[in-house]
Amino acid sequence: MMAASIARNDSLVDRLPTVRGRYRACVAVSELVWFRVGGPAEVVFRPADRDDLAHFLRHKPSDVPLTVIGVGSNLLVRDGGISGVVVRLGRGLSEITLKDDGLHVGAGALDANVAMTALQLGLGGLEFLSGIPGTVGGGLRMNAGAYGAEFADVLIRAEAVDAKGAAHSVSAKDLGLTYRHCAAPDDWIFTSAVLRAAPAEAETIAARMREIREKRESTQPVRARTGGSTFKNPPGNSAWKLIDGVGGRGLARGGARVSQQHCNFLINEGGATAADIEGLGDDLIERVRGATGITLQWEIQRIGAVPGSGPDCAGVSS
Ligand SMILES: Cc1cc2nc3c(=O)[nH]c(=O)nc-3n(C[C@H](O)[C@H](O)[C@H](O)COP(=O)(O)OP(=O)(O)OC[C@H]3O[C@@H](n4cnc5c(N)ncnc54)[C@H](O)[C@@H]3O)c2cc1C
Repeated sequence: MMAASIARNDSLVDRLPTVRGRYRACVAVSELVWFRVGGPAEVVFRPADRDDLAHFLRHKPSDVPLTVIGVGSNLLVRDGGISGVVVRLGRGLSEITLKDDGLHVGAGALDANVAMTALQLGLGGLEFLSGIPGTVGGGLRMNAGAYGAEFADVLIRAEAVDAKGAAHSVSAKDLGLTYRHCAAPDDWIFTSAVLRAAPAEAETIAARMREIREKRESTQPVRARTGGSTFKNPPGNSAWKLIDGVGGRGLARGGARVSQQHCNFLINEGGATAADIEGLGDDLIERVRGATGITLQWEIQRIGAVPGSGPDCAGVSS
């Protein structure tokens, strides 16, 4: 069993193009995502830079499935893991540079680093990024936002490559960014963005970032194994209020629990499986639907296979 599994995943790497970045076979996804759950990724690819990523996409066999992840702060990967190649943007795509037309940021850059760099450069308007624990790429895909601002408000242009390695450059308007949604084709991998920021007093920027941090720490389980807001707020309503209203606060399933602090956050208390977390979320959807007729929509992206149908990576624990 073990030998067969190693052969299978080695052979996937053998079928992939030669790159300057790095391939790793059978990676425990739980090490890559905030929830700390999920089965193995068959292969993880960290491109050296944008050209390396485009080269990989142009030459990858077309039957190999592709998934892109940032730092997994809005992701629930199921216990069976992810077949094919998981692209994870790293250092080679995380540059932050001020140019005449705006702040150029790599899609692998952490939102918090973008906010810190803007502070150092005396640029205001990006303070909201200080409280979002994802990457720029994940932020574009989710149109992430907090405290009255979102990517749509500050984005000038985004660059992406598609599944065939072709490059695209689009204005914010053409990306179709709405509440926690981006209309870009599913196969696009964002590689960089240009953000709008205006000169501001460093003390004013720092004070706003402090205010955001304090608010966040007092209202959200920011140090827990979580995936952030579980459900989108239905129009004119709050997901947390609906969950609270049906007695969801503190509800548990296996090792998963609805946060006592903020009941739109699900938490892995230590031994949770992805199935515990997803099952708990589905239970909340049913309760809210039964009581109010409103169907909560997942904000957390759920990906991967159930046990038995994912990659064969015997020996890699979830
Ligand atoms: C404690 C906590 C607090 C949070 N607070 C907020 C908040 O205030 N506001 C908010 O909006 N979100 C919040 N989130 C959710 C999360 O941080 C954001 O959605 C973030 O933008 C996700 O970025 P990521 O890099 O972690 O993406 P991931 O979670 O890794 O992926 C999310 C989605 O983006 C896609 N994706 C990732 N990178 C790329 C890329 N380069 N190109 C194309 N698609 C890509 C993935 O395929 C997936 O569909 C919070 C999460 C946590 C854990």
